[in-house]
Amino acid sequence: MPKTKKNSSFQSIKGMHDILPSEQLYWEKIRKELKETAEAYNFLRIDTPIVENSDLFQRSLGETTDIVEKQMFTFQSRGGDKLTLRPEGTAGIMRSYIQYGLSHLGQPLKLYYDGPMFRYEQPQAGRYRQFNQAGFEIIGGGDEPIYDIQVILPIFRLLENLKIKNLIIHVNTIGCKNCRPAYRKKLIEYYKNHQKDLCKDCNRRFEDNPLRLLDCSNSDCAEIRKEAPAILDDLCNNCHKHFKSFLEYMEELGLPYELDSHLVRGLDYYNRTVFEIFTSGVSEEGKSFDLALAGGGRYDYLAEMLGGRSTSATGGAIGVERIVEALKLLKINFGARPKAKVFLINIGDLARKKSLALLEDFIRAGVRASESLGKDSLNAQLRAADKEGVEIALILGQKEAFSDSVIIRDMKSGVQETVLIKKAVAEVKKRLK
Ligand code: AMP
Repeated sequence: MPKTKKNSSFQSIKGMHDILPSEQLYWEKIRKELKETAEAYNFLRIDTPIVENSDLFQRSLGETTDIVEKQMFTFQSRGGDKLTLRPEGTAGIMRSYIQYGLSHLGQPLKLYYDGPMFRYEQPQAGRYRQFNQAGFEIIGGGDEPIYDIQVILPIFRLLENLKIKNLIIHVNTIGCKNCRPAYRKKLIEYYKNHQKDLCKDCNRRFEDNPLRLLDCSNSDCAEIRKEAPAILDDLCNNCHKHFKSFLEYMEELGLPYELDSHLVRGLDYYNRTVFEIFTSGVSEEGKSFDLALAGGGRYDYLAEMLGGRSTSATGGAIGVERIVEALKLLKINFGARPKAKVFLINIGDLARKKSLALLEDFIRAGVRASESLGKDSLNAQLRAADKEGVEIALILGQKEAFSDSVIIRDMKSGVQETVLIKKAVAEVKKRLK
């Protein structure tokens, strides 16, 4: 992120950042690719509010998850409602799906979105309190593993189209209501012997949500995790078949993946397939990096958890700031902003009055024109025209303004010609390559 001046009286909120004009080219490119990819894969756009009832997240993400316990921006509205700035996009989309009965739009219904999310995390490189996610969801129509692939594919292609290399998809399954309890027991059994070495959070997780023990970033806990039992041995037949078939699709498509038997993801609403996508490499400056770019999974129980009908669903989200970071590390640029072709120069009061209307003619005709109309001196304006690298300067002086004409100056050759203002656009178009 750009450096801030410490002496300015107001600073942006900790963990929240501006996207300055110099960064916008990355964001425009990512949004453009997102729209094109989503449309190519037949996803419909959905936008949900940034604020939802706190209960929605408590119920769907789970009371004992880090997000709900520690990271939500929650406040009371003037009307006394308990509201939360959304920490992720899926819960709000499922709320909307149930509220509007969106199942009639398609079985399954494929939706995509992008927008800001809010989590009260400890800010560090690549981790913010306000950040943007772009996501894909496939809701309804059954729990076929092919839908998991149909979420991973657009995410993967989007990253590929943005020229991010060395992508690897970590995959796992976390089973279902039938097979998870036995695995849970095994985990508790294993962790019992290590309880004293676990961090404070994990000691709490041990009681409430043992699967989350596998998710801890504390280095001691990570060490203990290495020997923890993997769920793969405890899957029921259906989950086993589901995961096997999912992996067969991955193979068929040649998607680069790695089995990560301890990947559980932090939220309660997931079941069966879970995934995370990483990129790694060495930047031109020799800095090695390993970035988590996206994550997601199946969430077949969420609709019911929110009071809707049982509806299978799967989805995933990409961290947009992380993409920007990867693009910067890899020195991937997407060209410069399109330049103006014409620069309008005015000298004198009457010319200045007429200049805005002339500029409007060019804007309407779709010819990119630039100006520094607030400046008086011809030289300053010519210098500005030169700096912009335009092909043509239009000079509207006092004399020209009186005779409703304008000078067309070829910036390369210096050749000038006077034409009537009303013919200026057509004459310029003729000269532009
Ligand atoms: P999650 O919703 O936690 O699975 O995150 C999905 C993706 O969003 C991650 O892989 C990151 O790329 C990104 N992400 C999550 N949390 C943050 C954050 N606090 N700041 C920036 N990006 C984030």
